[in-house]
Amino acid sequence: MLIAEVAIPVPLGHPFSYAIPAALEGRVGPGMRVLCQFGPRQTLGVVLDVADREPSFDKSKLKPIGVVVDEEPVLPGELLSFLRELASYYLAPIGEVLRMALPALERTQVKTLSAHEVASIKGRKIGVRQVTMVRLAADAAQARTQSNGKLRGQALEVLEYLTACPETSVPRLEQRWKSARQAVKKLAQLGLVELGRREVPSSPFFAEAVDRDVPPSLTVAQERATVALRDAIAAREVRSFLLFGVTGSGKTEVYLRAIAACLAAGRGALVLVPEIALTPQLVGRFRARFGDDVAVIHSGLKEKERHVMWRRLRNGAVQVAIGARSALFAPVKNLGLIVVDEEHDGSFKQEEGARYHARDMSLLRAHRAGAVAVLGSATPSLEAEMLCRSGKLARLELPERAHAAAALPKVEIVDLKRIGSLPGGPPLISAPLHRAIEQTLAAREQTILFLNRRGFAPSVVCNACGGIVRCRLCSVALTFHRAAGGRLLCHYCDFVSALPKACPSCQKPALSLEGLGTEKLESAIEEAFPEAKVARLDRDVASGAKAESVLERVRAGDVDILVGTQMVTKGHDLPRVTLVGVINADAAFSMPDYRAAERAFQMLVQVAGRAGRSDRPGTVIIQTRDPEHPALRFAARHDVGGFIERELEARRELLYPPFARLALVRIDGPDERRTEAAAREIARTLSATSAVLAGQVQVRGPAPAPLSRLRGRYRFQVLLRAKERRPLRSSLFGLRSAEGRIAPPIRAVIDVDPVQMM
Ligand code: ADP
Ligand code: ZN
Repeated sequence: MLIAEVAIPVPLGHPFSYAIPAALEGRVGPGMRVLCQFGPRQTLGVVLDVADREPSFDKSKLKPIGVVVDEEPVLPGELLSFLRELASYYLAPIGEVLRMALPALERTQVKTLSAHEVASIKGRKIGVRQVTMVRLAADAAQARTQSNGKLRGQALEVLEYLTACPETSVPRLEQRWKSARQAVKKLAQLGLVELGRREVPSSPFFAEAVDRDVPPSLTVAQERATVALRDAIAAREVRSFLLFGVTGSGKTEVYLRAIAACLAAGRGALVLVPEIALTPQLVGRFRARFGDDVAVIHSGLKEKERHVMWRRLRNGAVQVAIGARSALFAPVKNLGLIVVDEEHDGSFKQEEGARYHARDMSLLRAHRAGAVAVLGSATPSLEAEMLCRSGKLARLELPERAHAAAALPKVEIVDLKRIGSLPGGPPLISAPLHRAIEQTLAAREQTILFLNRRGFAPSVVCNACGGIVRCRLCSVALTFHRAAGGRLLCHYCDFVSALPKACPSCQKPALSLEGLGTEKLESAIEEAFPEAKVARLDRDVASGAKAESVLERVRAGDVDILVGTQMVTKGHDLPRVTLVGVINADAAFSMPDYRAAERAFQMLVQVAGRAGRSDRPGTVIIQTRDPEHPALRFAARHDVGGFIERELEARRELLYPPFARLALVRIDGPDERRTEAAAREIARTLSATSAVLAGQVQVRGPAPAPLSRLRGRYRFQVLLRAKERRPLRSSLFGLRSAEGRIAPPIRAVIDVDPVQMM
């Protein structure tokens, strides 16, 4: 009999078998959604497999599939088998993985959009608007001679503009010329321009019209990298590359060329970036090159828009998708290339549900799809470096900045133990940084000041008992935020409270605000440099589109000093920034995590990379109390290779990744004692597995997590470590059978290749 294996979107590890009734024979296939009875209700599931076999149990117990929702698979075969492999790699329930990968509408809703709704009624479609495109007519030169003298004012200016850019749109021209529409009409009447209609997605990333660009001629290094990628794509090689290019070396241009090669070969491309909300500028560059048929996947998409976008990707109408982590699951048709920009970035790791790493999994997807993968970074992860050394990634290098005049910035380290601030100046700005800011202001150039703490004061301390005001639900200090009248905020659970009048422990009215956050830094800078225009960029002032408007002001020259958290470090190309100040480098070194030095190094190099990207030389000043820290010393010399070498040595000695495989079992619950007991039970189960007994896997813990309480739940960890992946997996399989003994409200989750050790 015909049996379908169906994944149900619930966190259970196994698919379920359903009978295919005769009426549905031939209409049920892998990747299609079906409605079936699951427990007391009808649930939407995804068919994984269809097989003709005898069930291993009582046939009469086998329930039939109720309704087949799709005529075509919503998940193409390539994507479906990739998702199954991903689920297996992370020991994650397939239902959970599918839930992540399928846009909400597709997984929960049977009332799919009718073709009628998707396609037009009076030319209106979901998620798109129409714009008029303008380009110079083929015989414009001739027409121009004939129309000599008839053109004046804006029409003439628009015509000049069009000679310099291959294609633009009326909205774009209207940004410059108020009566662009009339001018274009006139030019069209004279046969000087050709007009066309185009659909543009109605998303914030497409709000501004962009001109099509003329690709620049490549630098020698860019050319070499491009040729390697183009050859691999043309030859349909299944190869993966690391594009190691210093900040400002023009990695994006290489991606664009590779994508063009991919499109020319009739295949699609997928681009993953750390935070799509922070990269409208990057999206603009993609649109300038490929037009508006680029799918931008972001969390602000409405369900219907996403549904339409998915459909257009699936049927190949749109061939380029760009987005953050979850874009890994975009159903790009005939996938030929995956780009992971800033591959070292921690945000590629999903920290909830199925805890996958989008960079690692992009290699897997590319491999299975027969596509080329490119991981790009100025500060490659040690994982990527090891893959290069073992020959799994081919290395491509861009050792210099793309602009001929832009050298890497000069880096100066200021030892705060020895060098203080200017008399009368703000206490947290050392004299050298103070002077550098003054000089930058005098030269009418821009400064970025980086501080990795948002809020006004990171802690509230009692001067009587020495206690710190903590979150009621988490084991962390509350941060004082001055905005909105002043309040205490937990950065982990968003718990908010008023600033107490007295210490919660000793009741004495002796509380004081300690430490420095971006809010306080901003006001200190405003006071110290009253003539300067100061702006701030962190999660409190800016999320998504707002962040872009702050950056837009910086680009427009409307800001002299930009104060911010790591939001200012991420890849922005701000040509007039010549000074970058790191207020306090030390916080990053002291995280309880074996990757602390690597992260600190990457952060320092990235933030330094914002300085002097154009023709003016840049300076970076790093303030620290630990001037000998290796992450700092190597960053100051822009010595990425040297740092990697040293850090690899340390990891090898201590047997940490990439020389070992880790898995973390995270156990949490509301009752400390019971949760710890459950964690002990898990550690015991793991310790009894054969791979542990054979000495192939080490078990450490249970131990309280560094963040020992979060949102009212106590947290414990058991760490597994092995040289090889296989024995580690076999121990984790041993655990899965014991997981059943963990009962709510206690939870246990497996985190394979953990990134966040907190
Ligand atoms: P990266 O991503 O490596 O940090 P970008 O791609 O942002 O660098 O490029 C840095 C700057 O150099 C950008 O302003 C970009 O337009 C410019 N650029 C890139 N390639 C070239 C080139 N071949 N010729 C001239 N300018 C270039
Ligand atoms: Zn909290």
